[in-house]
Amino acid sequence: MSAAAQDMAGETAAEYLRMAVPLMSKNGIPATPENYATWYTHVSGENEQLSAEIQRLLRDNAPFTTAINNGLYREYVAEHDLSNVDQIRTDLNKILSEVGTTLSEAGDGARSFEGTLGGIAQDFSGKEDLSDIRELLSTLVEETRQMQSATSAMQNNFEEKSKEIDDLQEQLQRERKRAITDPLTGLYNRFALIDKLNAAVGEMDEDERPSLIMLDIDHFKAINDTHGHLIGDRVIRFVAQVLQKNTKGKDTAARYGGEEFTVLLPGTPSVGAKSVAEVIRKAVANAQLVRADNRQPLGKITISAGVATYQDEEDIMEFINRADQALYRSKNEGRNRTSVA
Ligand code: GH3
Ligand code: MG
Ligand code: MG
Repeated sequence: MSAAAQDMAGETAAEYLRMAVPLMSKNGIPATPENYATWYTHVSGENEQLSAEIQRLLRDNAPFTTAINNGLYREYVAEHDLSNVDQIRTDLNKILSEVGTTLSEAGDGARSFEGTLGGIAQDFSGKEDLSDIRELLSTLVEETRQMQSATSAMQNNFEEKSKEIDDLQEQLQRERKRAITDPLTGLYNRFALIDKLNAAVGEMDEDERPSLIMLDIDHFKAINDTHGHLIGDRVIRFVAQVLQKNTKGKDTAARYGGEEFTVLLPGTPSVGAKSVAEVIRKAVANAQLVRADNRQPLGKITISAGVATYQDEEDIMEFINRADQALYRSKNEGRNRTSVA
């Protein structure tokens, strides 16, 4: 986005906020980031269903209870489009901090203060009595004090909201990351893999198809049985590290399940994918792992791999299935090898 376009977006966002805030206060809606997002979305006209529901509630004179406010947010804003909420929060954040700064300089408080001063100056011209003047002076002092406290209260309020929005945004990001990460290895999980597969297939060119490597640790049950589950977990983490080290750029490694992994390689023909699989397979086979507690060697750990390259119009699940079948050929033919579908 160009700087000019960004300014425009900022202006629109500020206008929406200016429209949303009085509506919210008129209907007694608490100033939470979620409610801001709901009413902002409403006045922006981006979500017809939300606007229709709000119109209906207004028409019925229904009270905007916390339950109703939360319901509107959840149903029409949060689930409707998460990235949209993110954008709104970013915009809001920007606007709120700008408004906070502006207020202290030349805000509404200062203007009404000017009005009061004007009134006092007029009154003053007709007064001669000292007690009247004293009364006017004390009004002036009181007005000044009120203006200062109103301005700083508003500023504090905006700063608080701005921080709340920041916190929420961070929380949202952490939640998102957790939803796509495998906790044991830190690799992407199966859910993320499906997302990335869809993206890779959606963005591919005719002659730049994605390939998928499916990998499985050989005789992993025996490792668990001999050394216990905790050592088994460490072996899984070790294989994950090898995958991580050997996947770069657009390629992504994921833990598909138990001791099964995938590497997705967008725009990579099967020859290239096979050679990546072989680098990974050899790195695992050549490692000499020992138990941290008693230095006892774990013996040779090997993995088998299957490679498939996306075919026209193929379903994502069928694509995974072909890589899996190639993997099972490697298992049947003696393990510690790579087969291509
Ligand atoms: P193959 O060479 O045919 O793949 O044999 P395998 O023993 O590796 O395969 P199998 O599918 O029979 O066993 C996989 C084992 O992996 C069984 C399961 O208990 C174990 N496993 C699955 N997830 C985990 C995990 O997170 N940690 C540990 N330690 N073990 C796991
Ligand atoms: Mg398995
Ligand atoms: Mg296995």
